Amino acid sequence: MDTKFMLDMCQLSNAEKGKKITILGAGIAGLVAAYELEKLGHEVTIMEGSPRIGGRVWTHRFGSEQDAPYAELGAMRIPSSHNHTLHYVDKMGLSDKLCKFVTVFEEQNAFMNVKGNIFRMKDAPRILQERYQGIYTDTGYSEQTRLFAAWLQTIVNTISPGNLRDSLEKDLRSHLMDELERLDLSQYFSEDMETIDLQAFIKDNPGFRARCSKALDMFFSDILVETSHDLLQIKGGMEQLIWRLVESVKAEIRCNQQVTAIRVRENFVQIDWLENGELHTRISDYVLCTIPFSVLRKLELEGFDERKLASIKETIYCPATKVAFHTQQAFWEKQGINGGASFSGEGVRQTYYPSVKFNSNNDSVMLASYTIGDDADRLGNMSEQERHNFVKTTVSKVHPELQAKGMIADVASIAWGNYKWSAGGCTVHWSDESNHTISYLEAARPQNNLFFAGEHCSKYPAWLQGSIESALEAIYDIVSKKPASTPFIGMENATVKKNQLVETNFVG
Ligand SMILES: Cc1cc2nc3c(=O)[nH]c(=O)nc-3n(C[C@H](O)[C@H](O)[C@H](O)COP(=O)(O)OP(=O)(O)OC[C@H]3O[C@@H](n4cnc5c(N)ncnc54)[C@H](O)[C@@H]3O)c2cc1C
Repeated sequence: MDTKFMLDMCQLSNAEKGKKITILGAGIAGLVAAYELEKLGHEVTIMEGSPRIGGRVWTHRFGSEQDAPYAELGAMRIPSSHNHTLHYVDKMGLSDKLCKFVTVFEEQNAFMNVKGNIFRMKDAPRILQERYQGIYTDTGYSEQTRLFAAWLQTIVNTISPGNLRDSLEKDLRSHLMDELERLDLSQYFSEDMETIDLQAFIKDNPGFRARCSKALDMFFSDILVETSHDLLQIKGGMEQLIWRLVESVKAEIRCNQQVTAIRVRENFVQIDWLENGELHTRISDYVLCTIPFSVLRKLELEGFDERKLASIKETIYCPATKVAFHTQQAFWEKQGINGGASFSGEGVRQTYYPSVKFNSNNDSVMLASYTIGDDADRLGNMSEQERHNFVKTTVSKVHPELQAKGMIADVASIAWGNYKWSAGGCTVHWSDESNHTISYLEAARPQNNLFFAGEHCSKYPAWLQGSIESALEAIYDIVSKKPASTPFIGMENATVKKNQLVETNFVG
């Protein structure tokens, strides 16, 4: 954890103790908040709408044994610069399980399927130049510029959503090829010319990035993280972080409590929730809401100011869909693939191979398809069976072994865009319409005693790091908030409908 937070937390430990706080949502943000608030001497209640704890951290196991092969349906890698995430991995005693996550473009034996042409990653730029033609073969530009541009287009095509792929091609045609031509690119090619060092290129040439479209410029941060060589994973599954936090928190976590309304009053917050078909009401001195805004906007909200309501309504979420195959064999290892990802073609995009060894016989798991944006929506709108068939058929073009009888033992998939409890993959800061700096600060802004945390409230959206950082910021605000000078007279004023169970957790 960085020094500022350590200092802030030390100051907090001298602040008033014994506050009672209701946390909405048992994802990583809610759990970290509960853990830290209890450590600071406060009492916490956690309400979770779904039957499951963990939110967008979800390790799916193919089998009932604890060490059965698994797929990460949500978060799967931790950049080594994500200090907050790694702090909790360490605190929860999981550091010895950290190991390298081999990412896309790191395994040169992985495949690419571009318009039916299947080739190894290492041959990609040469073949892509031939395929793309146009600017990539325009001899008005040097061989190096054309090769570099083909690589860049390949990386963006593999990682980014549709609109950004087109946007790069347009930018290259109109001015970026000229820009590349002016630069000495030789230092960014590997010796065998099989790959480029995009990290170093972007670091040395910030001007290039600034000349890309705004959306693509913003997305470069994600591309750089996704292709960086220092990504980590927790061997045995990311969900271990969730379970260790759950064990470390004293508060009971109540699942199946679906919050339906939040009413902000001067000194307290009223929460309505549904459980077993019955509506209940709870009044709380302080509430920390980690419910994604894509879900929150459908709830009944009272006492919120206009700017806040606009932020809840307008925060942009990008869909994400994952489909994982439990396979009888890790047949890709025979092809020299030990992790990393293939680009399995339109509609399916990235296919990830495990870079951990499972404790299993011969069976293994491949994340057959990981999509975001339009591709994710398309897969998300299919029935599960259609989606699984489509992915199997498409990935089979790269890996015909999948067609062997019984090779796919089981399938697990999730379309986060349709998932009731997040209604989206993650918030985005690279949409043309969004001004993320303003929007995340607004998303995090409290409403009286109602505070907010979650990846949508952070400058690291779509990462655990962001969820955790926002939780720490919110804790600081809650704990340092002075109790209202006018005593709370809530219960008499609270509207309690007939047959409602009323819980109170306020002092007074
Ligand atoms: C496909 C995918 C891949 C990702 N990959 C990575 C990665 O590799 N590395 C990384 O660091 N991050 C990754 N992320 C991002 C990371 O998973 C999220 O940032 C993080 O898990 C979000 O945590 P949170 O607590 O902010 O929200 P959530 O985990 O969504 O928690 C919110 C909780 O609120 C609950 N809830 C919702 N509605 C209600 C309601 N009405 N009443 C009560 N409870 C409710 C939900 O069930 C949920 O448990 C990925 C995300 C996705 C979707």
